[in-house]
Amino acid sequence: MTPAQRRNQLVEEGELTENTADLLAQQTLPEEIANHLIENQISEVEIPLGVAQHFKINGIKKWIPMATEEPSVIAAASNGAKLCGDIKAETPQRLMRGQIVLAGQQAYQDIIQALEERREELILCANDSYPSIVKRGGGVREIASREFQGEDQAYLSIDFLIDVKDAMGANIVNAILEGVATKLREWFPEREILFSILSNLATESLATAHCIIPFDRLAADRQMGEQIAKKIQQAAEYAKLDPYRAATHNKGIMNGIDAVILATGNDTRATGAAIHAYAAKNGHYEGLTQWRVTEDGLVGEITLPLAVASVGGASKVLPKAAASFELLNVDSAKELAQLIAAVGLAQNLAALRALVTDGIQKGHMALQARTLAMTVGAKGAEIEQVAQALRSKAKMNQEIAKEILLDVQQ
Ligand code: NDP
Repeated sequence: MTPAQRRNQLVEEGELTENTADLLAQQTLPEEIANHLIENQISEVEIPLGVAQHFKINGIKKWIPMATEEPSVIAAASNGAKLCGDIKAETPQRLMRGQIVLAGQQAYQDIIQALEERREELILCANDSYPSIVKRGGGVREIASREFQGEDQAYLSIDFLIDVKDAMGANIVNAILEGVATKLREWFPEREILFSILSNLATESLATAHCIIPFDRLAADRQMGEQIAKKIQQAAEYAKLDPYRAATHNKGIMNGIDAVILATGNDTRATGAAIHAYAAKNGHYEGLTQWRVTEDGLVGEITLPLAVASVGGASKVLPKAAASFELLNVDSAKELAQLIAAVGLAQNLAALRALVTDGIQKGHMALQARTLAMTVGAKGAEIEQVAQALRSKAKMNQEIAKEILLDVQQ
């Protein structure tokens, strides 16, 4: 079926009205792209794309494209970036892990030994399964294994660390694993390979962003700035201790990270899964940032797995993702990961600073007022009029917004 035929069917079955079907028919993505990217495509969802300012990363000024439906995220990122100043970011390595998992009741010593003795043969076989990545300078770098004991089954994960260059690597890794799994079946026909798949926990693709903020940048004077810095340090420490706070601390970081991931056509689920799993690396779920008061000022750092791509996937297929790349002007997946880590750090600083000073609601609600105005039906110039009136009220809610709208419309 074509997207139009699918919409018609939903109308015929009484699931959609004609009006809604007409609304869904409005698309900006070329139909051939949208219809080929996913299955059963009927329309597209529009999320505003904005640009965060004031970012300076590794000495270079950057405009950061961010796709989000949440008011105040881009303002906070820009504000955080201004406070951070020059953010130093790095990605020491960029490898993806693929797993071939075996299940059974026998010990795995023979396989572990074969992995050591026939390592080169296995690497050759792996690389032969995806020669183009080898031509680009990538391919398998390491093979290791990990054993697990279940209730009545023992498992062996054979891990392949693969340099996927500037791709996210899911398809590349999975293709390589399939080739290697065939070889392992030849070597050990009596063993059961349960599955072969990429791991999203990309601990070999960590990006770190770091900044030093002089105290007088945090407030009107140095002393007040130092006090705010101490509270930011405490708030970050608390997020390491309490998972209820850590979830919200990290949600704020993800506000920025997801927005860039989405804007660049990268896989939000892959990065989300990796980052949250990494946040639990010490045995319990923790906040992802560290903030420390030092003699030089407030020092902030974030480290997180960012297996993002500057090629492949949807990054070059979606025209607006390509536009985001034009704006970002990055040369590699490593550089993109550095920018995204920097956004996470700036986003966290803005949130923590607001939290330990004015409270988050003040700034957030001022920007949320426009959304509230639209929710109650304000149109055109009414949106700003209702939002402005809302900002002067002690409380903001839909009832108050409706009253203001009625006044404006009279
Ligand atoms: P692709 O399948 O698009 O592979 C990357 C492509 O980029 C290859 O065709 C490669 O060409 C090309 N390429 C061009 N330049 C480079 C370069 N410098 N470095 C590397 N490759 C280059 O994408 P991935 O393998 O990265 O897989 C990502 C997709 O997989 C995403 O859409 C993701 O959502 C999805 N996915 C995710 C999963 C997960 O997260 N668990 C699971 C399965 C799929 P050539 O072939 O010539 O080398």
